[in-house]
Amino acid sequence: MIPDVDNDSIVYLNGQYKKLAEATISVLDRGFIFGDGIYEVVPAYQGKPFRMKEHLARLERSLAALEIRCPLKAADWQSLVANLLQQHGPGDAMVYLQVTRGVARRDHAFPVHALEPTVFGMVSPFTPPGVAQRTQGLSVITIPDERWLHCEIKSVSLLGNVLAKQQAVRAGVDEVIQFRNGFMSEGASSNIWAVRNGELLAPPRDNLILEGIRYGFMQELAQAAGIPFSARPISREEVDSADELMLTSATKEVLPITRCNGKPVAGGQPGPVYAALRAGYDAALRSL
Ligand code: PMP
Repeated sequence: MIPDVDNDSIVYLNGQYKKLAEATISVLDRGFIFGDGIYEVVPAYQGKPFRMKEHLARLERSLAALEIRCPLKAADWQSLVANLLQQHGPGDAMVYLQVTRGVARRDHAFPVHALEPTVFGMVSPFTPPGVAQRTQGLSVITIPDERWLHCEIKSVSLLGNVLAKQQAVRAGVDEVIQFRNGFMSEGASSNIWAVRNGELLAPPRDNLILEGIRYGFMQELAQAAGIPFSARPISREEVDSADELMLTSATKEVLPITRCNGKPVAGGQPGPVYAALRAGYDAALRSL
């Protein structure tokens, strides 16, 4: 039995639905041995996945980057997600999907024979951010980005992100903002946004960040609200003197960052650009 989870919840593993506690894989799975795999987290509201098409497109991009054969067709992923959500029932949920290269004799290089990728899916309850987080905002610390140079792949090799998040936990804050060579990259599990002079700024979509599914969505929301947007390197000084900071992720949606390294960000209150984007996000969720 696994503590802290619903062991009786139904998961998907390699074509079968079974109880979480009974879903097991080989110790030689390359996901276990090398972190050789990718994942996705799709948020769902009252049984309806949000931005599913974009999540599946990113899943395919991640697989292609690692030269792992995409084991299911788009329609099969969709029914897998629908089946898991049906098992879960009506509440808000997040669907976790993972694909690894498969099971083989331990050897770093890709196995020469064709492998059957391991496919895993599970669903768990998800509580969208409440009034307290939306109005008080989140706290962060800044840390050096010590991860590898392929952050654009949503790989399960997450040790750098795990160690970064643990620094946040130790510091008693919600998230970190990572910096590489003096420029902002992202959080341990979120994209970070700055606002300067009314303009929304994000780091470029390159190999130094994971392009969140909310990255493109925030651009759409900014455009609809008439907020100028730039993707460009953002320096340490620009973050320190930003008018607003915020973060996005599947489960945090969009939230203001109101404390950084123990000091208030701007006035320590969520700002007007956040409020406009948040309103757009909520409207999109209402129309799901
Ligand atoms: N960057 C990292 C490192 C992440 O782990 C995540 C998501 N958990 C994001 C950005 C945000 O991506 P998304 O909007 O797709 O959740």
